[in-house]
Amino acid sequence: MINTSEEKNNKIKDSLNKTKNKRKSQEIAIIKTKIDNDKLNKNTVKILNRIFLEAKWLYNYIINKEFNNDIFNIDYKINNVPVYVKDHYETRRLKYISSQMKEEIIDRAIDNIKGLHELKNKGFKTGKLKFKSHITSIPLKQYNNTYKIINNKYIKIQGIKQLLKVNGLDNLKYYFEPSNALLINKNNNYYIYITAYKNKYILDKPVNNQKIISFDLGIKNQLTLSNGLVLNYNIPKSKREKRIQRRLSKKVKNSNNYYKLKNKLNVEQTKTTNKRKDTVNKIVHYISSDYNIVITQKDNIRGWKHLFGKRIESTGIGGIIEALKYKASTFILLNRFLPTTKECSKCHNKYNINLDERIYKCPNCGFIINRDYNSTLNDIYYGIIKINELLKNKYNKINKDLKKYNINVLAERLREYTPVEIDAPALEGLKISPYVRVSMVDESGSLIALA
Ligand SMILES: [Zn+2]
Repeated sequence: MINTSEEKNNKIKDSLNKTKNKRKSQEIAIIKTKIDNDKLNKNTVKILNRIFLEAKWLYNYIINKEFNNDIFNIDYKINNVPVYVKDHYETRRLKYISSQMKEEIIDRAIDNIKGLHELKNKGFKTGKLKFKSHITSIPLKQYNNTYKIINNKYIKIQGIKQLLKVNGLDNLKYYFEPSNALLINKNNNYYIYITAYKNKYILDKPVNNQKIISFDLGIKNQLTLSNGLVLNYNIPKSKREKRIQRRLSKKVKNSNNYYKLKNKLNVEQTKTTNKRKDTVNKIVHYISSDYNIVITQKDNIRGWKHLFGKRIESTGIGGIIEALKYKASTFILLNRFLPTTKECSKCHNKYNINLDERIYKCPNCGFIINRDYNSTLNDIYYGIIKINELLKNKYNKINKDLKKYNINVLAERLREYTPVEIDAPALEGLKISPYVRVSMVDESGSLIALA
């Protein structure tokens, strides 16, 4: 049987783990803000001073052994502390420091004492914790509780009525998720340092003017790009590799010579694999460095392997998609059931084109176009629909996040993506890799084929 407190503990553990996992994918930032002294009213100045004073009283009381033999059992709700004045102790009330702040200061003192104990246990010579003449920072641990960002000019701190005008929050962007903060006192200038996590959204950069490309993985032409380039490459096994393989098949298995030859074969095979990987990397680099948004369709590569075997194997074509997932600024992988091959990229009518038909001839509008090139144009068509869907989701998510953290910062305006016109790249001087043959998609070739 599970009792309720165990359940509660598990819930806390769960939520801590969730946060921990979320943080892994986030970047951390410290936003440093300065409280505008000129805008503070008298009462607020008094309270700010008092908070630091009370924090000092509390801290010195906790580490004072005259009062606290059992620091680990201290009452977090403590309201009065003895304060040493000249030659005696007087009781002072903790009026302005919030219960959250108290907890944090007590925890901080306990941490310091624990640290000292550890050093002692390791054999270091340690004294005791020293009383502080002043405290320079107050933890504001819980966002929305101990403190809250109102907008990019004002912060609210628990226990202070006046909203604090701050400088430095102008950099606050919709993608910041505020976490804990520190209230800092440097010679009666006050600062709030906020730890924030950068939330990642899809299509993080503004989409205007982003260059878009799509590609189609094919059999006859391996890579057809929507900018009109066709890339072909083939890195077959080297003659040496084939030779070793032949010799190996004649050796007695598990003999000394067999192993020697097997090692040689491994070396040759690694060379070929590396050449293939390098070529794939260079193609990926060309696509992802010249274009911001990359689109392709999830194709059934395994099915092709079955049909075309070696030809697919010698290219490592599957690696291109995997690499682009990480390298491309935005990568859109279209559902493989979208009819990008069957559909006319001009009138969007569909017809069942056979696998051996290299030219797409639209029975509806008469458009004639290279089969793979037609697919890439459809990829762009469906890709833009998908991008605009994602932009809308992102916009909604940002607004939801802002609401969640109670921040009144204007979110990015919802914009539709409209692609920029791209000129076909010049073939002259374009070298992707010595193993890649670059040509232009042959639109006229389709006519030649018809003639
Ligand atoms: Zn058509």
